[in-house]
Amino acid sequence: MSSSMSNFFIPGPTWVRPEILQEMSRPMIGHRGAEFRELYARIAADLKPLFATAQDTFVVTATGTALMEAALVNCANRRILVTTCGAFSERWLQIAESLGLEVDRLAVEWGEAIDPDDLRDHLASRRVPYDAVTLTHNETSTGVTNDVAALAQAVREESPDTLVLVDAVSSLAGIPLRFDDWGLDVCFASVQKGVALPPGIALVAVSAKALARARKMPYRGTYFDFLNYKKHADEGGVPSTPSIPHFYALAAQLEHILRGEGLEARFARHEQMRETTIARTSTFAKLASDRAHASATVSALAPVRPPEELRAAMKKRGYTLGGGYGKWKETTFRVGHMGDITMESLNAMLDVLVEVARG
Ligand code: PLP
Repeated sequence: MSSSMSNFFIPGPTWVRPEILQEMSRPMIGHRGAEFRELYARIAADLKPLFATAQDTFVVTATGTALMEAALVNCANRRILVTTCGAFSERWLQIAESLGLEVDRLAVEWGEAIDPDDLRDHLASRRVPYDAVTLTHNETSTGVTNDVAALAQAVREESPDTLVLVDAVSSLAGIPLRFDDWGLDVCFASVQKGVALPPGIALVAVSAKALARARKMPYRGTYFDFLNYKKHADEGGVPSTPSIPHFYALAAQLEHILRGEGLEARFARHEQMRETTIARTSTFAKLASDRAHASATVSALAPVRPPEELRAAMKKRGYTLGGGYGKWKETTFRVGHMGDITMESLNAMLDVLVEVARG
């Protein structure tokens, strides 16, 4: 198999380019020295266009789930609204409850997207504003992309003091996202999906408004305190010993995303991967979620044959596909088409999948 071909199609962690894996084996450097500061400065500059923001961005040695907790710890201490449309958007509920927050939920069925008008109506009907609303840009369990621009606008207009916290774990660097233009307050992603690095660090953009809210929080914990990240970022570093191999890899990958492939071309490739996946599987599987909100990074498909049989047959042919998630486990499988997967790899996998599905 050539070095640009992947046989690994789960919706994260995704395939990582061999050059990036090599970046991770560079010699160690101290995280308080000039070399690290130089590395960090390059990363910080490149995170701005990635999130489309002029505000603060941080790199945290942790995964996406940790950043969900961090967003809540820094921005909410009374009540929040969680919008849910699948397993990952539901994860916010459990984290918020574990922090003792009062939690309301605006839910749609799995496979659907949150309707901005429903969110607007819900917020308009409240007398006491929420500290924050949680949104999930791309619901990885169902392959649905929410219209975060419209949802955030609804929050801004109906409840201007409520912060907008966005999980972009499976959208960042795969699906357009504009932190400043959309008026977001916290937006984060782990790197093992659209950014296409091995798992282990997370990226976050934080608005001035969110930092001002954090300042008012009496207890923000220590590891996830955004103000501490800001203090260290302003000095060119991070609060505690980071996963330095990931920082090397991130710098190289941001170079590739922004100045190698280019963000717009990357988004276009992801859309093409979605269209190709849906079209080429249509004879033996139905898209399980709303077509109008179909994700450009992951497709949840309901095949005629039991999905686990299909996946096992693909495994025998050397291909790993994603299983169905949560309550969709028995009825769907998922194709992760994210990160650096090429059209050539995707089509080669789909050639085999079409053949295997014929039985
Ligand atoms: N949010 C979404 C949308 C996800 O897809 C995932 C993981 O798949 C998570 C959060 C959790 O991220 P992590 O596994 O990096 O903690």
